[in-house]
Amino acid sequence: MSILKFDPDLIRRHNVNGPRYTSYPTADQFRDGEWTEAYRQSIATTDISSLSVYVHIPFCSTICYYCACNKISTGNLKRADSYVQRLLREMQLHSNLIDVPHRVEQLHFGGGTPTFLNDEQFERIFAGLHKYFELEEGGSQDFSIEIDPRKLPASRIGNLAKLGINRVSIGVQDFDPMVQIAVNRIQSVDETRSIVDAARDNGIRSINIDLINGLPKQTVDGFTRTLEQVIDLQPDRLSLYSYAHLPQRFKTQRQINTDDLPNAELKLKLLGMAVNMLADAGYEYVGMDHFAKSSDSLIQAQKDGSLHRNFQGYTTHGHCELIGLGVSSIGNIGQVYVQNSKALPEYYQSIDAGKLAIARGFTSDDRDVIVSQVIQDLMCKFEVLTRDFEIRTGFGFRDYFSDQWPRLIRFENDGLLELGAARIKVTDKGRFLVRNICMVFDDYLSRDTQKFSKAI
Ligand code: SF4
Repeated sequence: MSILKFDPDLIRRHNVNGPRYTSYPTADQFRDGEWTEAYRQSIATTDISSLSVYVHIPFCSTICYYCACNKISTGNLKRADSYVQRLLREMQLHSNLIDVPHRVEQLHFGGGTPTFLNDEQFERIFAGLHKYFELEEGGSQDFSIEIDPRKLPASRIGNLAKLGINRVSIGVQDFDPMVQIAVNRIQSVDETRSIVDAARDNGIRSINIDLINGLPKQTVDGFTRTLEQVIDLQPDRLSLYSYAHLPQRFKTQRQINTDDLPNAELKLKLLGMAVNMLADAGYEYVGMDHFAKSSDSLIQAQKDGSLHRNFQGYTTHGHCELIGLGVSSIGNIGQVYVQNSKALPEYYQSIDAGKLAIARGFTSDDRDVIVSQVIQDLMCKFEVLTRDFEIRTGFGFRDYFSDQWPRLIRFENDGLLELGAARIKVTDKGRFLVRNICMVFDDYLSRDTQKFSKAI
């Protein structure tokens, strides 16, 4: 059983801004420039027999004020038609670079609102995916989509399942009507339940629900009720994100009245309450904001050491190389990261010119690879086997991280870490602060940390 001890004093003391480490280095280190050739070369020299494909759909019909995603507000479905056309062309451009047998084991539609697209548009996308890639069909594949239950007829879940979707992630955030008004996202329990029921009826094997702690107007009573309602829906996985109010960076957050935000103490109370309620309801802690039932594959992977973390969060497909499709999407092949243009006109311009829409990138050096593995181990296993590190890299762990060692000792003194002869281990009460420990190893972090969220 994955143990998490919620220690409010410790969290209060270490509540600083930091990355969520879906990659190392983090995406803010990517650099503008010409990266297509580096990407092409990495595809040619990397084992790409197992692939993960991410498809970004940027459109939303209404805007939730808390949102920090790359999205475009529109009610015009025709805009999605032009977009799907470009996605198909982009698939072809990627497939031109891939001339070896491969299997797409993981496919994820994120956004924006993927369900902004209609069934016909999804059929065209899947036809393209089948034409340009080899999609795994043996049953081990994870093909997932983020669902916005508002105004989505439950019947559409059946069509998505027929196309191959077998996992869904449902945005809820909070069912409290006062909170929903304050964030401009009105979504009833009933419409959410109808999607959950339709997913189960259509054989979707995993349902995730997203919640956010720290939204305006949240109260202990209101959030307790939300948690009860969500637990009653029995999702297999639950994400509990901490809202980061960064109105300087995200324009839509300026719609939120700062006076309505819960203060740090209330936010901490809401978090502790949520953690305890989820534990009582049988959810185990995966790590970094994520909980799952003990029967879920993420918990199984955590137990057998095969859990990974990538741009889609925690995954059992960490061995896959990643191809990103669509505006702003990120790909990662070998040591090369690339990100598409974030602006739709630029993305269209590149694709229409027959070029990949890569605008930024990063090539990890040997130290980045070593640090990345340490951060993966901390995030997914809550420990680093330092003897294994020494065999793998040829460096003594303590020597290699001599600058970091004094800070690790401080964490040990605070009870977050145990520094043993053969391993460093995150304690049960340190688990909620695992990213703070990862930050010690991050060579790029000395600069502006205000762009990241806090643990609470
Ligand atoms: S939270 Fe989702 S639906 Fe709301 S604005 Fe952001 S991407 Fe769109």
